[in-house]
Formats: sequence, structure tokens, C-alpha cells
Amino acid sequence: MLYAWIDGVKRPPLVKGERTACPDCGGLLTSVMPVENVNHWRHKAGDCDPWSEPEGPWHLGWKEQFDLACREVGLVDNATGERHRADVLCGLGTPTSTVLELQHSSISEEERGAREAYYTRGHRMFWLVHVYSSETAFTGHSFGFSLDFGSHPRQVDSHTFFIMRWMGRSKQFIEKWKRATAHVFFDFQGHIFFLAGDELARRINGGTPLRKGEFALCRVPRDQFVRSVQGLA
Ligand SMILES: [Zn+2]
Repeated sequence: MLYAWIDGVKRPPLVKGERTACPDCGGLLTSVMPVENVNHWRHKAGDCDPWSEPEGPWHLGWKEQFDLACREVGLVDNATGERHRADVLCGLGTPTSTVLELQHSSISEEERGAREAYYTRGHRMFWLVHVYSSETAFTGHSFGFSLDFGSHPRQVDSHTFFIMRWMGRSKQFIEKWKRATAHVFFDFQGHIFFLAGDELARRINGGTPLRKGEFALCRVPRDQFVRSVQGLA
């Protein structure tokens, strides 16, 4: 986690050796100051959020787009006691209460579904999926090759969508996100794209579902994306 309350301020650690308590579980947090990554807090006895993943500059950069109070907000399911920390939560207690999950690492379909089931209880939910290539996965290359705004644009709900075809060998990545029940946005080299879900894709495609490997995208300016998480657009 990047933020914790220390001396009355919610912030990342500033110096080595700092300690404080986790606002969600009360567990001891110690400062971690890696040379090649962002400063963060580590639970001494293991993170109270089992979905917690290593975070880096991409997470920090996006969290900083939102008010400090909206970054890393702990939620508890009163019925089960299940506890998770939303990366960003704007408008808590209002009709536009929105959870933004920042997804840098690959997650299984099961975990994607579990997070959606948890966070959509009482909130809208947006995924922001970081699309890039690593030493082991070429998702960024495939996505880049697939981008195609040359086809006939389709207007739905005042948004302009383009239907394109996934150019990678495995269509697992795009198919997994097409099946999401929350709203899916991709961050590819700093550009934001909204992925049409199944129902919307049918409307875009004249009533017929898209075929395997086909997907519909709409470009979204970054500031508009941020405002929409904030419930302002
Ligand atoms: Zn904790």
C-alpha cells in the first residue's frame, strides 16, 4: 500500500524506519524505500487485503490524479467481514460512488469476477487495465497492432466506437476483459480507451454479438476519464 496515516497525515513513507498502523486492520506497517520503485508501506504480518499486489510508478501516478481522501479506501462487507482496499473510491455515499481498480499485473478470470462481485455492491466499478509488453507477454504489441480507427465509426449513446480485431496469437486477454461486468478502460502508452462490454457491443454491431477476437473501442481523453471516475462526466 502506498498510503497510511502517520502523525495525522495520510502519505507514503518518507524515511527508512518509519512505522505506523494500518487504518483497516490495525496491523503494524513498516516503510519500504526501494531504490528502483516507489516508496510504500508493508504489513509486518501480511497484507489484510488478499488482493493486494506489488505497486509501482504507474499506480502512484494514477492515484495522484484523485483527492488524497479517495486513494486506497478500505471497505468491509458487513455480512461476511471480508475486507478489501479499493485503489480509488470517489463519491462514497453518493449515487455516483465509483471504485476504480488499477490493474497492472495479469489476473485470472476468477479473480476478476470476484473483485467485480465485491466492488459493484453499492458502487459503480471501473477497471483501468495497463496494457504493455513485458519479457514474457506481448500484450502491448498485440494491442498496438490491433488498434484500427479506419473502419466505419458507430455512434452509440453519443460515443464513437470502432470495431477491431485482436492481432495476437492468443485472444485470451481481450476475451477475458470483454466478459467483464464492470466498465473496462485500457491505458496504452498513456492513451485511454473504453472497451464495450457484451450488451453494448451488440448494440454497436447492429444486434449481433461480436465474434471471438473482435472488440469495440472508444477513445476517451484522460481528463474526461478522471472526471467520469469522480462522477463529474
Ligand atoms: Zn491492514
